[in-house]
Amino acid sequence: MTAPGASIVVRELPEPKLEPGAVLLETVLSEVCGTDVHLRHGRLAGVPYPIVPGHVSVGRVAETAGPVTNIEGRAVQLGDLVTFLDVHETCHGCWYCLVAKQSTRCPKRRVYGITYSADEGPLGGWAERIWLKPGVRIVPLAPGVTPERWMGAGCGLPTALHAVDRADIRLGDRVAVQGSGPVGLSAAILARLSGAGSVIVLGDPAGRLEAARGFGADATIAVGETTADERIQRVRDVTGGRGADVTIEATGVPSAVREGMQMTRDGGRLVVVGQYTDAGDATFNPHADINRRHLEIRGTWGFDYSHVHRAMEIVARHGEAIRWERSITRAYGLQEMDRALDDVEAGSVVKAVVRPGAR
Ligand SMILES: [Zn+2]
Ligand SMILES: [Zn+2]
Repeated sequence: MTAPGASIVVRELPEPKLEPGAVLLETVLSEVCGTDVHLRHGRLAGVPYPIVPGHVSVGRVAETAGPVTNIEGRAVQLGDLVTFLDVHETCHGCWYCLVAKQSTRCPKRRVYGITYSADEGPLGGWAERIWLKPGVRIVPLAPGVTPERWMGAGCGLPTALHAVDRADIRLGDRVAVQGSGPVGLSAAILARLSGAGSVIVLGDPAGRLEAARGFGADATIAVGETTADERIQRVRDVTGGRGADVTIEATGVPSAVREGMQMTRDGGRLVVVGQYTDAGDATFNPHADINRRHLEIRGTWGFDYSHVHRAMEIVARHGEAIRWERSITRAYGLQEMDRALDDVEAGSVVKAVVRPGAR
């Protein structure tokens, strides 16, 4: 991706020189997600175009420079199928890392597929090889977890896991999820696994709402066919007139945040995960929407190693029941990435992946 707005071009990059502790992966699958659409439109700050997009990927270990182990102390072997945390160079030495313990706010962190330049090497998943620099956190696919199953969950699962952690769902809670993209769908799945009494998903288009029901949502509301007031009323109708105990916003639409406040019960909790890029301002009434209603609002940004590690355990444990691979609508070759981005932006696919080895 050479610049915002430009077509995707396929280029040869020099073979990386693996420093001790580095790993070279032969890419099996990488993802195409909403973040890549934002990157295409230049909506993220500090992106060093040209970049190799693709921040969550599965690859086969093709080369290692000396011994490399995962966090369990197990050696990474040639031929292993692995994924990895896309965030690298978190410093573990700054105020955010050490005092606030908010490593996703570390200013030194770099992200594969987003904040590494293609001039630095194949440091993104839309490529036949991915260069894992020393210290990149490698997670082997658990037994029974296929590349398709892991990528069907994609970056939406650890993102949603972070949001659901922040949501503190209690057994029996009624949960509303705004948004039916990969983050919203995974949030709905995880809300159920957390013991929610019911889960209602608000989104579009019909194919994604069908996916939400297939993944166990108790009810869905089509955003395109309803007004905000109607949606709030529908949520209240299925929650004894009170509103959701917990609402998870995963839309990317600023006005959805106030709507989320209003569909949450008094004393309930709203977790905002969908506003990953600056899509503009939203207005609300501090008295009516927050103070008088004793509402709790929490933001959640990105994910750290713990979310990827636990996501793998969740997919290993619940993969047969949930079959995340169902959310992959289509796999694209490297020559088709403009098309893939168009399809993700239009919402015509639930999950798009790239198979760089395909011709
Ligand atoms: Zn730091
Ligand atoms: Zn993503």
